[in-house]
Amino acid sequence: MQLFGQMMYQPMLLSSLLERAARQYSGVEIVSRDAEGDIHRYTYRDCHTRSGQLAQALQAYGIKVGDRIGTLAWNGYRHMETYYGVSGIGGVCHTINPRLFPDQIAYIINHAQDRMVFFDASFAALVEQIAGQCPRVERWVMLCEKAPLPPSFSISVESYEDLIGGLDENFEWPHFDERLAAVLCYTSGTTGDPKGVLYSHRSLTLMAFSSALPDSLGLSAVETVAPVVPMFHVNAWGLPFSAPLVGAKLVFPGAKLDGESLHSLFEQEGVTLSAAVPTVWLGFVDYMRRSGKATQTFKRAIVGGAACPPQLAASMREVGVKAVHAWGMTEMSPLGTVCSRSHELAHAGEDEWARVSTKQGRALPGVELKIVGPDETELPWDGTSAGELMARGHWVADSYFGSDKSTLRDGWFPTGDIATIDPDGYMHITDRSKDVIKSGGEWISSIELENIALSHPDVESAACIGCAHPKWDERPLLVVVRREGSSLDAWQLLSFYSDKVAKWCIPDDVVFVPSLPLTATGKLQKVALRQKYGNHFVDSLGRT
Ligand code: AMP
Repeated sequence: MQLFGQMMYQPMLLSSLLERAARQYSGVEIVSRDAEGDIHRYTYRDCHTRSGQLAQALQAYGIKVGDRIGTLAWNGYRHMETYYGVSGIGGVCHTINPRLFPDQIAYIINHAQDRMVFFDASFAALVEQIAGQCPRVERWVMLCEKAPLPPSFSISVESYEDLIGGLDENFEWPHFDERLAAVLCYTSGTTGDPKGVLYSHRSLTLMAFSSALPDSLGLSAVETVAPVVPMFHVNAWGLPFSAPLVGAKLVFPGAKLDGESLHSLFEQEGVTLSAAVPTVWLGFVDYMRRSGKATQTFKRAIVGGAACPPQLAASMREVGVKAVHAWGMTEMSPLGTVCSRSHELAHAGEDEWARVSTKQGRALPGVELKIVGPDETELPWDGTSAGELMARGHWVADSYFGSDKSTLRDGWFPTGDIATIDPDGYMHITDRSKDVIKSGGEWISSIELENIALSHPDVESAACIGCAHPKWDERPLLVVVRREGSSLDAWQLLSFYSDKVAKWCIPDDVVFVPSLPLTATGKLQKVALRQKYGNHFVDSLGRT
């Protein structure tokens, strides 16, 4: 006979994270910088009260369990309130990436059937442009002070403060099934239409617990956390949930993410930990070097969303900041791995640790990983066998919003990444499966070739793509942005590879460009590069 445990059952709801923060860390601050650079300051208690007022306003309007509410906003306190106010009554907070093309944004709003959309004033023109394409949106709410709103608006818009103003300050959060949807986020959709990933209260709460652990993001009540990764980029990697969970101070940077703006905010607010994609950290380090400024409190930077080049980790070390490598994806809420030390590496020297920390790290508790070959057989964790990375766990997607077709293969989510895993469980992404360069039956890692280029002092940024080749199927081409004032040429850069990789892995050519295209989430847009340079070798060989 099965014998069940006799413990209380409490649904894991996001509202309980904020409620506890409001009780236990009531005076801890949430600081937000707005588009004009002005600072807004309030506490977890205030955030909780106002989220409850938003919840009441939504209920009074008739928002029901499962209804979707869109947001087009930078990181700030009102955006945080929509996270909690919407999900706290069983609604679904649908965070939309404003950097997508307007047609994609309209597609996403329509696909999600958003009933209301909350937006920052800086996206007013965008909203006016797409509103006509989104007939199902009943109300557009600007995240701003009370009316009057600009009379020039061509659509009907309300102010957020009008919406929530004057409502009861003591809202009691309803209890419901923890498996209900809380947040919806669409993948960036570089191929085909964007797909929606629908997170539940349970999945986000479990990720918050696991990600806060010392060997995960290492959050605590004495940290000051600045989520630079946008709240529209996969829940700002869960920080709006994990920071209140532990009672950490939160600092939201708004729209200005250049090195100087971040540095001044971090210094002013005593930020200790932040998280962003590599391009943001490159700008940050560059500013620190040029200005000669130091950081007093800022010691740990989570680097994820794309591989952290070893050169970036080294430059961050030089300016006194430790780069902590993490990997994940929209379908994983997003956190899958974090690279932190184990017993074996507790006393590893700087060089050995620098080598290990270029890996993406070990799976968080609650996530399992494996790598498989083309015939689906599991590959060994020997640090050299590379295969498709498969994941499963409490916050890994099963199917996409609007579809009941499971994406799983034999119970595992195929990530589309190619990786190795070493005997200690450190996972290393060698490539995205569609970016790996297939040359004469061998695979060449585009990330490895990019990292070598980035370690050249004259290279500012670099992308490596596989281009069609009549003999080898594909050959690597480097697309490079030189540092200002440099006259580096292709021959010099390619010679730099000679003692670093096997001869057949050295790129065949280099194209120098003024800038590289980035996706809406700040990653290299290799699809655009392949479209432009995909026939580089075919064309050049044809000419000879
Ligand atoms: P997205 O769903 O847009 O966040 O993209 C997820 C993809 O970004 C992953 O499948 C990886 O290909 C890539 N990615 C995320 N973090 C890393 C990392 N630390 N290193 C290498 N690739 C990464």
